[in-house]
Amino acid sequence: MSTEKKSVMILGGGLAGLTATKRLVDRGFKVTVLEKREIFGGKVSSWKDDEGDWIESGTHCFFGAYDVLYDLMKEIKSYHAVLWKDHRLTYTLEGGKRFTFNTWDLPSPLHLLPAIVRNGYFSFGEMASFSRSLIPLALKQASYPPTQDHLTFAEWAEQKKFGNRLMDKMFRPMALALKFIPPEEISAKIILDVTETFYRIPESSCMGFLKGAPQEYLHQPLLGHSSSRGAVFRNLAAVDELLFDGTEIKGVQLRNGEILTADYYLAALPIHDLNKVLPASLKSHDRFFGGLSNLEGVPVISVQLWYDREIVTDDNVLFSPDGIIPVYANLARTTPEYRLLRGEPFIGKTRFEFCVAPARELLKLSREEILRRVDLSVRSCYPQQTLGAKVLKSTLVKIPHSVYAPLPNMEQFRPTQRTPVRNLFLAGGFSRQLYYDSMGGAVMSANLAAGGIMSAEEMA
Ligand SMILES: Cc1cc2nc3c(=O)[nH]c(=O)nc-3n(C[C@H](O)[C@H](O)[C@H](O)COP(=O)(O)OP(=O)(O)OC[C@H]3O[C@@H](n4cnc5c(N)ncnc54)[C@H](O)[C@@H]3O)c2cc1C
Repeated sequence: MSTEKKSVMILGGGLAGLTATKRLVDRGFKVTVLEKREIFGGKVSSWKDDEGDWIESGTHCFFGAYDVLYDLMKEIKSYHAVLWKDHRLTYTLEGGKRFTFNTWDLPSPLHLLPAIVRNGYFSFGEMASFSRSLIPLALKQASYPPTQDHLTFAEWAEQKKFGNRLMDKMFRPMALALKFIPPEEISAKIILDVTETFYRIPESSCMGFLKGAPQEYLHQPLLGHSSSRGAVFRNLAAVDELLFDGTEIKGVQLRNGEILTADYYLAALPIHDLNKVLPASLKSHDRFFGGLSNLEGVPVISVQLWYDREIVTDDNVLFSPDGIIPVYANLARTTPEYRLLRGEPFIGKTRFEFCVAPARELLKLSREEILRRVDLSVRSCYPQQTLGAKVLKSTLVKIPHSVYAPLPNMEQFRPTQRTPVRNLFLAGGFSRQLYYDSMGGAVMSANLAAGGIMSAEEMA
């Protein structure tokens, strides 16, 4: 690499943009980050409301599988903030029923034995028929899921005939929790990929929560690290268009009319925003860019409800197939620094945070109606514990375009981080890497994009 510092313009200050910034400033690049919102962090962002309570874009579980994320957190000295929970997945059902998939501390696949024989809900026959359906996965491992991308998970399950109860009670909330779309929409590939990883790597399905706000344990340390090495972070700087001259990117135009230039451009935007800033000349230039318009973002709603009593004591993530709360947690248990309400200690009560999905129709409803339906879902899962319970506070965040939708046959359109344009790179959960649209995926995509810029510069 030449001794002159090369400049990189990063579009988007979400986890992918912030990770790429760190990687690049650590290698001596001059980086400017353009973020359209006031705060950084994108879909993992969190902020305080007028009463001093943290609001989050959504409940964020840290899967054991995200090694790249933990490497990053160790570098910025915030890994200590990940609190690992007991290795189990609990499903709560209407009428107060529940079942749990426990694991044993044994090598794969023996770690899954208790989930198969002692989950307290599915019969041994049901689990045996499900295990049979996974034989191709066990034999072909990671090479099997990509062959099933043309099917929805519901179509795949229909062929395997492992029974409606497993589909409705286990896989429906799993699909909704993973990508906020139901089994009738999600590609079979993604559920099979996740199942294969859980099967092969015992600790991959273990879940952690941050001890407090992502802003304090992810984004501020990243911003602090990169600012101290010269990175410039501009908030309220919405990019309108990438300027393409038929060969290269010549600059970015901001919404305020300003034009900024750099040696390299890295777009770390959600897919719907990337499609807006790509000029028509670039979309028609190449199949690579043209294909991106097939990808779209999924709607989801994030709700918090504070209740005046302790409804559930689980210090872990919870799933629910019934109602509209496929994945949720009692933050007053999982997240020590969130044991607060309006600045006062909030102990022995419940502060639920829910991902509300599927959300396409719900988004059309009023705030009050959505909250009423979430509360009903809670009361249906905990009929005894909620008798007379009062909601003390509620918050709601609507996200019309969140993670990209992994529908059947979409994998072919996920772009690599290196593009056909020499000085343009892409990062973000939707881009091609192992972890789909997740925190692990955002970090992995950023590592790949930053690596691409570094090698392009070495070759220059
Ligand atoms: C409710 C919810 C729950 C989730 N739960 C989990 C979970 O439990 N575990 C997990 O691993 N992942 C989870 N995810 C997914 C995870 O949040 C995302 O995959 C990840 O944050 C994506 O990061 P990113 O940097 O690729 O994109 P983003 O976070 O979307 O960042 C893109 C940034 O670009 C900015 N931007 C957009 N347009 C412009 C423009 N024109 N100019 C400048 N800036 C622009 C945006 O404001 C944003 O800050 C969840 C997501 C949601 C919504």
